[in-house]
Amino acid sequence: MGFIVWLILTSLSLFIFYSLIKSAINNSKQTETLNNIKDILIDIRENQKNRVVVEESAIEMGVGNEEEAITVEECPGCQQTVASNATNCPTCGLRLRD
Ligand SMILES: [Zn+2]
Repeated sequence: MGFIVWLILTSLSLFIFYSLIKSAINNSKQTETLNNIKDILIDIRENQKNRVVVEESAIEMGVGNEEEAITVEECPGCQQTVASNATNCPTCGLRLRD
């Protein structure tokens, strides 16, 4: 009788042990999968961030080119450089164009 109880308890504990290991393996696999997904998401986010940075710098470069495209001229009153689209000289206030 005692042997049967011992056998049942041993089988039960072995089963529990087996289930624990199995779930642990499943968990680690799930964790691995989750980590992979997380890495992929981080990669995507980093790429987007980089792309945004590239786009922003491109915009900045575009703005810079635009600013360069705005020609400057010399004010006839004070000889300071004035944007050619400025109506008045910002330094001396001379009216440059109508
Ligand atoms: Zn001026």
